[in-house]
Amino acid sequence: MRYESDGTDQRIYVRQSWLNDALMCPQRAHLIEKHPEMRRENDSALMGTAVHAGIEQVLNGQVSPSNIGDFCVGWFRSKKAELESEGREVNITNTDPKNWNTHISSMAQAWVNDILPHVPAGGETEVKFSVPIKKVANHLFEYDLWFEGTADYVHPTGIWDWKTAARKYYEAEKQSQNIQSSVYATALTTLGKIDYTVNFNFGVMIRNASSTGQIVNVTRTEQHAEWIIGQAVSVVNSFLLATNLGDEPRVMNDQHHLCSERWCPVWSKCKGSALSDTTDTEVSNG
Ligand code: SF4
Repeated sequence: MRYESDGTDQRIYVRQSWLNDALMCPQRAHLIEKHPEMRRENDSALMGTAVHAGIEQVLNGQVSPSNIGDFCVGWFRSKKAELESEGREVNITNTDPKNWNTHISSMAQAWVNDILPHVPAGGETEVKFSVPIKKVANHLFEYDLWFEGTADYVHPTGIWDWKTAARKYYEAEKQSQNIQSSVYATALTTLGKIDYTVNFNFGVMIRNASSTGQIVNVTRTEQHAEWIIGQAVSVVNSFLLATNLGDEPRVMNDQHHLCSERWCPVWSKCKGSALSDTTDTEVSNG
């Protein structure tokens, strides 16, 4: 959540990743905002970013599909070296460094084999948006809610998002609960880049040496937009109310699989100050 004020109007910018965090564990969203230096680059996320970079190059005609693996591995290696030269070590979660190159090129190849043939040509890659969504005025607050983010690929027939993940996605769960697709559909229809009913497609690559690609389609309508806007307002309002708490903790929810030393960047300031971690979970990136 990001504030901006020109003295009269207050804008609040919300990204889907913040909304996910804030719904899952308000204290996590709060502490990450307060301690941005604690955000760590991790191996799985960096592998995912490398594959994203390769896909973008292929879609823009700058790398041929047959060279995507080499491109992604090279990108990963130079980014890792750059981070290390700045004193920012890449946090190793649950991957084995000796498999990094193989897994990256295998995921990139899975995208070429199983996903690319279904991606319509002529769309736009890396579409950044920042869109006014709703004027909120209640007895406590007055602000303009904006959604912001970057869509991996937008075509008039659908929005595409690339994910690298430990395991396949469950389509029914994404259809009923996914936040990213609702935020992006709301923002991009408001901008006129796409019309309802929106097809939002996750192009998922499984993180292993013999990766396969999976396309998971969810649909988003005006009703999903109404819900996600209401949900975002409810979360923003609760955060605005909580500003009076100062440094006191927000709700600390550990009832989810990202509450662990590996996957919560502020673990040491929260649950880690009381307990040591015994979990061993995998998540998706993208
Ligand atoms: S350690 Fe767990 S409870 Fe604490 S901020 Fe992280 S996710 Fe939330």
